[in-house]
Amino acid sequence: MPELPEVEVLKRGLNELIVNQTVKAISSINSPRSLIGSLSDINRFVVGAKITEINRRGKMIIINLSSGYCLVVHLKMTGQLVYRSDDEQKNFGAGHPTNSLVGQLPDRSSRVVIVLEKGTLFFNDQRKFGWIRLIHKNLLEDIKLYRTMGPEPLEGIPKNQFSANLSRRANLKIKPALLDQTVIAGVGNIYADESLWMAQIHPSTRVKNVPAASRGLLLDSIVDSMNTSINFGGSTDRNYVNAKGQGGSYLKFAKVFRREGLLCPRCGSEIIKIKLAGRGTHFCPVCQKEEQSS
Ligand SMILES: [Zn+2]
Repeated sequence: MPELPEVEVLKRGLNELIVNQTVKAISSINSPRSLIGSLSDINRFVVGAKITEINRRGKMIIINLSSGYCLVVHLKMTGQLVYRSDDEQKNFGAGHPTNSLVGQLPDRSSRVVIVLEKGTLFFNDQRKFGWIRLIHKNLLEDIKLYRTMGPEPLEGIPKNQFSANLSRRANLKIKPALLDQTVIAGVGNIYADESLWMAQIHPSTRVKNVPAASRGLLLDSIVDSMNTSINFGGSTDRNYVNAKGQGGSYLKFAKVFRREGLLCPRCGSEIIKIKLAGRGTHFCPVCQKEEQSS
């Protein structure tokens, strides 16, 4: 799964490259389920419309159109968005790291092709779990994932709101609570492990046993780790590389994620990996103390 920073990198790149271009044509290739919307609506509200802005909600990309409609893109496991410009200097792509990011397109993984004035945007998706959906911007809340998504970490969440959202999952362990997209948008495995390390919270601690001060520190840590990752172009967590086929470099700077057996940068103890709620979980057993009581 892509994580929020990778999708944010994608949003920023597309905002620089495809805004103000008119859509000349859009079609799906051998995968009608990848493009959701009636053909008549697509012809009426996409073709001929201008792209006005690219937004992000959680891990969804929203391509806003001058018709009042938007194309919502979810990359899921293996999706990519690749922009091939008439000007090769402006080629850009992010997603599952296959040769499709840099090779000839369309190819076998191409599902949707959007022809623009100055280039073509390809939605590639080997496993076909991703989708692009046409919807009026006033009806975005009809998408359940959109409606139930928690607040955006990069937009400044008040600490008391974050704490209250966590408290709805009081008996859950803190790591799976962070991965619940209704608590906070876009936190995946990497940023959960990194932020818990930064805030010195054991990932198995029950939410109700995490004090307010630690929750505040945790929120700051989530924002810090995501911003650091965005500055490095995202992580290379095997489903993700960023612009022009170059991988993001955040994982080189990660403190615990995929560093089991290496030493904790804070206390020098060995980082360990456990399975927690089905997810590989990395932490320092010394400076992230296990809860004493529950
Ligand atoms: Zn440590």
